[in-house]
Amino acid sequence: MRWNKAGFALVIFVLGWLVPISGATPEPQLTVYTAQASYSVSVLDRGGKPYISVTDLLSPLGASSPQLKNKEWRMELNKAEIRFSPDKDKATVRGHQADLGGRVLVEEGRVLVPLDAALPLLSRSLNTMVDFHRPARRIFIGSGFTRFYAQFKNEDQSSLVLNFSQPVKPDVSHDQDRTTLLFRKEPIVSETSKQLFGDGAIQSLIYSEDNGTASLTVTGNAALEITRSDDGKTITLQPEKPAVEAVAESTPQNEPATTEGQRHTPEFFVMIDPSHGGSDKGASFGSKLLEKDITLRLARELHKELEERGIASRLLRDGDIEIGLERRAEITNEQHAGIYVALHAGFPGHGVRVYSPLLNDPQQIAGRFLPWESAQSAALARSQAVAQAVTAEMRKKGLSVASMGVPLRPLNNMVGPAIAVELAPEGDGLQSLENQKRQNAVASAIASGIAQARIQMGARP
Ligand SMILES: [Zn+2]
Repeated sequence: MRWNKAGFALVIFVLGWLVPISGATPEPQLTVYTAQASYSVSVLDRGGKPYISVTDLLSPLGASSPQLKNKEWRMELNKAEIRFSPDKDKATVRGHQADLGGRVLVEEGRVLVPLDAALPLLSRSLNTMVDFHRPARRIFIGSGFTRFYAQFKNEDQSSLVLNFSQPVKPDVSHDQDRTTLLFRKEPIVSETSKQLFGDGAIQSLIYSEDNGTASLTVTGNAALEITRSDDGKTITLQPEKPAVEAVAESTPQNEPATTEGQRHTPEFFVMIDPSHGGSDKGASFGSKLLEKDITLRLARELHKELEERGIASRLLRDGDIEIGLERRAEITNEQHAGIYVALHAGFPGHGVRVYSPLLNDPQQIAGRFLPWESAQSAALARSQAVAQAVTAEMRKKGLSVASMGVPLRPLNNMVGPAIAVELAPEGDGLQSLENQKRQNAVASAIASGIAQARIQMGARP
């Protein structure tokens, strides 16, 4: 795991940086992020189309101011000449035409171009990689992104630790059950838009970007206290007043810990992972049916079935969002899931397939530090036991099922027991994938198998 406890020296900045955010709609802006600095450019409305000033866009990067010469406005940036002609929808950059996506306007010596022109103007004059998040109006020059990962801890008191690759200093605002960190200048990016942590003081973390800014919103049922490490790379959120459990308080201190010894072990829960999501659609069945939708429906069904058996579970995604395989493993490991179940739907074959992880060379893995690829090694036998129990329950329900070990990601990256279940079309064709009865039977069999496996593992997998 990337988390290093020793390196985590928190200095409590008592919220001197808490800035109230006004409720007024902010002026539209474009933010340009470079390795050296970030700056924002006003976005103007011209006939319903967003426009920006080329001086605002390019002068912070060292461009000369536009000079009128032979009816053309000329600028120089990074030894590249850029020429604009009023009313033309193309500019000349380094002698080549660049499409601006709309015509050039000149207002009192100010050269305006459509917002969309920012990408070709920057990438061609700077000759570097430029990434434009158009809906959020954020443009990244080079690859100096700031990435982060969130670590949720649910011990005596829950807390959420956000680790950033670069120092950050967001504006913080509170609104009842949500805390928002607004990043005005930091090139924060994330592939994950929502992470779920359960139903306590900290319930979810939502990443969004809008109007040249990025924000992280934490929702929960308590007011959160925020601390920032002195290097600016770690932000911790936790409930303001630690919630003391009434039960724990009333327990006499000298009572033997044996009966309630498990109070301090994290609650057992099953992490249900509806595979795919967002632009990763998974397999397609016919024209409308997508794997990512089938897996989500099956996941919700499984959640219900587990609940009926008194087993807690969480959905790794509960919406149409994209999460990378690595990230899925990180979330599951960070939250200490008791069992992880990935759900798939697809060809080939028919019936249901139950997969357990297969390590390429388990013998080679020794020592205290497990490589990421073989995080699974210590849990392999338990994964196989869960797969066997689930397979047996499927057979009992008359489902046609095959069981096999596969070196499949992200199963191999899980530190706890992990299986994957794949639903393939039954004899009656594609229809069966949607067949509610069959889906129920599969979900029910997985839930029963997990309940069985839990008993075998002494209810403490
Ligand atoms: Zn799949």
